Amino acid sequence: MEAHEVKPEIEELWRHVLMHGHPGRWAFLPSEPRCIVCRQPFKGLGGQFLRVFTGYGPSRMSPNVCNICEDAMPVGGAEVDTAVLFADIRGSTALGEQLPPAEFAKLVNRFYHETSKVLVAAQSWIDKLVGNEIMARYVPAMGPDYRPRRAHRPGAATDHRV
Ligand SMILES: [Zn+2]
Repeated sequence: MEAHEVKPEIEELWRHVLMHGHPGRWAFLPSEPRCIVCRQPFKGLGGQFLRVFTGYGPSRMSPNVCNICEDAMPVGGAEVDTAVLFADIRGSTALGEQLPPAEFAKLVNRFYHETSKVLVAAQSWIDKLVGNEIMARYVPAMGPDYRPRRAHRPGAATDHRV
């Protein structure tokens, strides 16, 4: 096995999590919203309990996914059917040339803020913020309608928010 190859047990763990999620030990606690992967609550009494005793909470990058799910998986992955949404600022190269740097930075930050709100409301898993682009992923563990419903509606909704 070469150094860059993923061990079969790690690949199988990733496949299981991406296909089915992994209900957390505290998923039975009440209160919404929840991590879309482990189903443990972020708010209410259940969320407060987890925050105080385990440090559990929403990840900074994607508030629909908890900090533990975001960081605890081992390095690796698995091939699964997935959908990916990319959104960026139309004409950003020309805008970057026309606007002063501080104004362009404000525009990009507003884009990230408004687009993130739409994606979080659509139960998206925000994966990356790069340059003037945002990327969200949709995996089978999010439910049977993860791909057709979730991957295109947020894109249309973000068009008029920035
Ligand atoms: Zn989680």
